[in-house]
Amino acid sequence: MLADNLNEIKETIKLACTHAHRSETEVTLVAVTKSVDSEVAEQLAELGVEDFAENRVDKLLEKKAALKNYSSIKWHLIGNLQRRKVKLIINNIDYFHALDSLSLAEEIQKRAEKTISCFVEVNISAEESKHGLRKEKLKDFINQLSTMDKIRVVGLMTMAPLNADDDELHTFFSELKDAQTMVREMNLPYAPCTDLSMGMSNDFPIAVEEGATFVRVGRGLFRGA
Ligand SMILES: *Cc1c(COP(=O)(O)O)cnc(C)c1O
Repeated sequence: MLADNLNEIKETIKLACTHAHRSETEVTLVAVTKSVDSEVAEQLAELGVEDFAENRVDKLLEKKAALKNYSSIKWHLIGNLQRRKVKLIINNIDYFHALDSLSLAEEIQKRAEKTISCFVEVNISAEESKHGLRKEKLKDFINQLSTMDKIRVVGLMTMAPLNADDDELHTFFSELKDAQTMVREMNLPYAPCTDLSMGMSNDFPIAVEEGATFVRVGRGLFRGA
């Protein structure tokens, strides 16, 4: 069941890449394991998945400990992170997908022992969500990170509203792509911004068509598992 779901999702990514004249090698499937236990996560690791995400600090640490024998796994923290939890997690992850405030950046700068690959979370649909920066604030925010040598802005991340139709999804995701272009054109060594983390179970094919390089898929992987 899990293997079938995984293959189906990979095929869907491939098809969306073909539609958009992209190479499927540009897109990384990140398995969001927040709804399953470590045993199911391990089955995914056995199937060759190497990118795992959790949205809670304690759950990520638990899964990472359970899967410690799979040394090539990269760990992604995707949820919003409270400042007081930064020290517990920041040196245990490979990617942080929800950087959205200067105070959080300052705490990461203080606690990180190496440079952390961060996605700045952008609130593209403005009214819907409390998390993420408004697009208009992005440029100033990126400039403010210039003195923080522990933070590398590898890309931008967004979550589309659950009730958006396909046309709206195309618009949201292409707006994130435009924001990415804006950051790339700032030409800052600490903000190469080559990646786009967008697309979940119900919208990842559209996200891939609009340029996603990391898709974060949870429920779709575990249907019936
Ligand atoms: C849960 C979650 C996902 C995955 O959502 P599904 O609908 O289960 O695919 C992706 N991104 C974030 C930030 C999440 O919290």
